[in-house]
Formats: sequence, structure tokens, C-alpha cells
Amino acid sequence: MSRALAQSPLRGALLGLCPRCGAPTMFHRIASFRDRCEPCGLDYAAFDVGDAAAPFLIFVVGAVVVIGAIWLELSRSPPWWVHVVVWVPLTIGLTLVLLRIAKGLLIALEYKNDARLGRRE
Ligand SMILES: [Zn+2]
Repeated sequence: MSRALAQSPLRGALLGLCPRCGAPTMFHRIASFRDRCEPCGLDYAAFDVGDAAAPFLIFVVGAVVVIGAIWLELSRSPPWWVHVVVWVPLTIGLTLVLLRIAKGLLIALEYKNDARLGRRE
């Protein structure tokens, strides 16, 4: 596939698609990148997404979980273990899914804007 067929950065991030060829090769595990895209050879290790997404996700996931827990407690007053069963898996799941999307989006945007660390032009 050519670069002209490349998808939008958000779509690529959601589906884990290579920003160059569109093959589903971006992720090795849920939120870790492969070294490179096998079909087109794009080197994912050359991109530096760092930890930029983590602080943002802490605020988003924290807000969702805290607001949800307060709402659940005030509206239903469930036993304590219901909070554990609901909020612990939701926190872990939201963190992993949103981290994957955010990291994929950062790589897709770096590729689209031809941005690299410490380079001029
Ligand atoms: Zn590729």
C-alpha cells in the first residue's frame, strides 16, 4: 500500500495500524510496540513517544473512576466489595485501552508530521 492510502491517525491508533502501509502491525502486546512493521519496514523504535500519555490518562481515568464511585455510593450504597469488583477492573481496563490508543496516536502523528526527536527541519 502507498502512503496515500494511509488512514487517519486516530483510526490507525484505534486499530493498531502501521501509519505507512496500514497493516495491523503496530503493537506486539496490548500497549507495547513491535520493533518494526514487517510488510513495509517502518522502524517503530525510531519514534519516541515516551511517557507523555501516562499523566494525561491518570487524570482522565481517575476522573471517570472517582466520579463513578461517588455516584454509585450515593445512589445505591452497595457493600464495599461491589466497589472493588467494579472499579478495579474498570481502572485497569480503561488504563490499558486508553494507553494503547494514546501511544498509537502519538506514533501516527509523529509519522504524519514527520517529527523526530532532536532533529531540525
Ligand atoms: Zn507498515
